[in-house]
Amino acid sequence: MTRVFTADWVLPVEGPPIEAGAVAVEDGRIAAVGTTEDLGEGTHYDDAVIVPGFVNAHSHLEYAVYAGFGDGLGDFAEWITLHIERKARIDWDEYVDVAKFGAAQCLASGVTTVGDCSYSGATAVACAELGLRATVYLEVFGFDSAQALERFARIRARVGDAFSTRVRPGVSPHAPYSVSIEVYEACAELGLPIATHISESPAEIEYLLTGAGTWGGYKDLLISSPGKTGTHLLAEHDLLGPNVVAAHCVVLDEDEIGLLASTGTGVAHCPRSNAVLGCGVAPLAELRAAGARVGVGTDSPASAPSFDFFEELRSVLLSARARATRPDVLSAGEALELGTLGSARALDLDGEIGSLVPGKWADFAVVSLEGSAYLPWEDPAGAVVLGGSPDRVIATYVDGEARYEKGGMDWQELTAAAHSARRAMLAQPAAKPVAAPRA
Ligand SMILES: [Zn+2]
Repeated sequence: MTRVFTADWVLPVEGPPIEAGAVAVEDGRIAAVGTTEDLGEGTHYDDAVIVPGFVNAHSHLEYAVYAGFGDGLGDFAEWITLHIERKARIDWDEYVDVAKFGAAQCLASGVTTVGDCSYSGATAVACAELGLRATVYLEVFGFDSAQALERFARIRARVGDAFSTRVRPGVSPHAPYSVSIEVYEACAELGLPIATHISESPAEIEYLLTGAGTWGGYKDLLISSPGKTGTHLLAEHDLLGPNVVAAHCVVLDEDEIGLLASTGTGVAHCPRSNAVLGCGVAPLAELRAAGARVGVGTDSPASAPSFDFFEELRSVLLSARARATRPDVLSAGEALELGTLGSARALDLDGEIGSLVPGKWADFAVVSLEGSAYLPWEDPAGAVVLGGSPDRVIATYVDGEARYEKGGMDWQELTAAAHSARRAMLAQPAAKPVAAPRA
């Protein structure tokens, strides 16, 4: 059966905007994209835009209730210690509750796919249950590759039933300062999609290059190869490539930008997280100019305040223009492309999702601009990026099925369960008192 969805505008991202546009869906995939005149009226949304579902290229749904945890702490050791302690205070069911809350917030924000780094595996269960498409990168840490693989196998076995065509497994060797090169290599041999964190802050770079700086005294960190940044280290061991997505990539020199681009490595640009943690502004224009596969990620409320993808897209636009001191360095349409097709490329899923073209999965969001300052229409992409919000998302479709409809989500239940987990994490005082923020 073919169903048709129509709105004032359809933004296919691949191809020009279509006024009075229509998307036809068959068997979960896009059958045709055209005008209402061509395809019929079907289900019509007034004062609205149909966009490809947003692709969140880097998230941690399991940290959905971490807002404000450790905010402003200047000492990395204290920040990470606080997180580890609190994480240990909740059990598996609470992990799932929190991840479901995060997945629901993503769907409500028009997100149809996440590339999620998952500590416990709960993300896979949450995404399977709520119908959110995902690559779930199960996290591993440490020096020892046998131990890392054992942890990976244990978590994968626990959540194995949750994996499907829509929710696929990946592995995440966490970062070059928390994972040895042997563990990276063992992960690569699994033949799965890989996510890692690279070049997030000047402190990380200083530590990897010299073993000193503000991270120098933290005993649980490691350096595989002194004097090398994560990008150089992974490139030398042939561990970059299109099956790898690197989150952050803030502190990069010209060589590193070239390496990421030439290897086809995905880059998840997370401007709000990078700003909140005081890490800097990633060289987005330079990465794009080099041809890197750049997408957009919200990271999690442990750093960025929310999974609000519209806020993230605005931050992509604002930070790029502020860094370049030029308003034409990134248009609203280009920001929209980064958060859809760009992220799909970063996750190596652009053959299946990221734009509205026949044959791809019917993953799309309907954004209402009713009553907004951007009506009557001038630039529909600008209206979505600058004027959109989760509150304006009318519906989010994955595989042609409505996985979210405004007013239809049981927020009371989701919120109560997630807040109970947060309360458990806050119940006892931290072992170390939370220090006052550094000036
Ligand atoms: Zn992350």
